[in-house]
Amino acid sequence: MQGRWHVTLRGLPSAGRSWDEPVPKQWLEDRDRGKVDALSGLVSDVSWQGSLCLNGGIYRLQGDWQGRMMRECSRCNAMFEWHMQGRNERDYRLGADADDGEDCEILPAPGAIDLIDVLREDIWLAWQADVLCSESCKGLCPYCGCDLNRGACDCGKKNSDHPFAALAALKLDA
Ligand SMILES: [Zn+2]
Ligand SMILES: [Zn+2]
Repeated sequence: MQGRWHVTLRGLPSAGRSWDEPVPKQWLEDRDRGKVDALSGLVSDVSWQGSLCLNGGIYRLQGDWQGRMMRECSRCNAMFEWHMQGRNERDYRLGADADDGEDCEILPAPGAIDLIDVLREDIWLAWQADVLCSESCKGLCPYCGCDLNRGACDCGKKNSDHPFAALAALKLDA
């Protein structure tokens, strides 16, 4: 099964190839596989719909993927299932010279590609440092650190009417 994700450009059928199926989480998270860093924290398999076609000497890989990963909310620090998705757009050409061309990756013949690595790389590119559990996440109380999504704390009430509320949190030595 896994062998199908190793493609050789030169051996591509003239009609190209297309796929629409889940890529198992175990493969994407397998550290002994591939050249691109393994992913971690996937909630389930990543669904991937893609195609690879040859047109005028350029092999074009296009696709859409989506999956879910456990992430920490950058506002309230809670773990949540982050829904992620993205597109794949890559052009390859067979050639001797190792430099990548214009917008095209040049591979030595016969042009071996591990599609699992391609998917991993595109997922990493879509990874964002700051993610929120919800757009309306209330975050943590700056005074006591309690999670305001679970309810208000007393110190918030006490300080909110006060024009110098922020100062109350500072411990100043007189
Ligand atoms: Zn949050
Ligand atoms: Zn508080």
